[in-house]
Amino acid sequence: MSATGPARQGIAALTSYSLVPETPVPVRAKLDFNESPYDVPDAVKEKVLARLRAKRWSLYPEFGSGRLRRAIAAATGRSPEEIVVGNGSGEVVLGAVNAFAGGGELILTPPTFSLYPQLAAIAQTGVVNVPLVGDDFAFDEAAILCAVARTPRTVPLVCSPNNPTGSAANLGFLRRLADAASVLLVDQAYVDFAPEGTSALPLVDEGRNVVVFRTLSKAFAAAGFRIGYAVARPELAREVGKAVLPFSVDHAAEELAVALLEDVGPANERVAAIVKERERVVAALRAMGAKVAPAAGNFVFVEPLGGEAERVRKELLLRGVLVRDLGPSAPGRLRVTIGLPAENDLFLTELARIAGLKETR
Ligand code: PMP
Repeated sequence: MSATGPARQGIAALTSYSLVPETPVPVRAKLDFNESPYDVPDAVKEKVLARLRAKRWSLYPEFGSGRLRRAIAAATGRSPEEIVVGNGSGEVVLGAVNAFAGGGELILTPPTFSLYPQLAAIAQTGVVNVPLVGDDFAFDEAAILCAVARTPRTVPLVCSPNNPTGSAANLGFLRRLADAASVLLVDQAYVDFAPEGTSALPLVDEGRNVVVFRTLSKAFAAAGFRIGYAVARPELAREVGKAVLPFSVDHAAEELAVALLEDVGPANERVAAIVKERERVVAALRAMGAKVAPAAGNFVFVEPLGGEAERVRKELLLRGVLVRDLGPSAPGRLRVTIGLPAENDLFLTELARIAGLKETR
């Protein structure tokens, strides 16, 4: 046996995806995972539990998830044939990477979602990195188009709004990219928090080879139940569906998704509250003199005052405020999820103390 054991090289070379936070003190603000600070409303939980109780748990969920796909289609104004569902959007992204780029190459724009290199390795897919540029972490449009032109079957995976920077891609650029590439993958897990005009769904309507990924983990606060989906022309959706395992959305996730999508009003209100808070946090950080990238998700990407990002993260942790440090992929920056107003206040106050500033609000 080799030093790495029996795993193939691409997997053995990966560092395990680790998200285990050290929490030496009681958590006062959990701002590290881009989760919703608002739980699913009790009335929705009750509805889901009653529907689940009435089901036969011994049976597999519906093959092909027709009911769930119809519910998503109705809520988003699309047709069920355009929808592929999965156990979180990560699973559907993996299906699409396998279907369209497997064995080939994927273009990524670091710093971006840390799961992508792992998905590429699972799909035996090479990675071409085209880093974001400038203080705003903008997409390097010319360089990405150039990378596609060099190897036409290379598949770009654009995260917009991008985790962890918050950058949103321009729709005109995505249209040009879609036309240049064999297929364009666009992860829009955070699109509900973004300004109008960020959605890539118009490109699907235009008949382009674009696959858009969405999730119920963020705006709908359903991260504990794993519901994600892809939207694409039926011909492309069919191919993605072949690369996702059957029955990957279970009874509980399906019932929760259907109940949440029956009335999207409460989720929309909460998204509006989070966006308002995000603007307040960005303004407060800038008033403190911290550098903040333009934010289009439910998080901010900040270069804190008061020392190195990793040291500031640890200081915040000691005060019960959990935030993410992205390590070498985004040196000097912290990603901070927008929480409830009181949690955001706590973060701002503790950050100002760590930086030795007087409180600015
Ligand atoms: N895409 C991005 C950009 C994300 O940040 C995340 C979650 N952090 C996901 C996909 C995965 O979402 P899900 O919970 O639907 O698997």
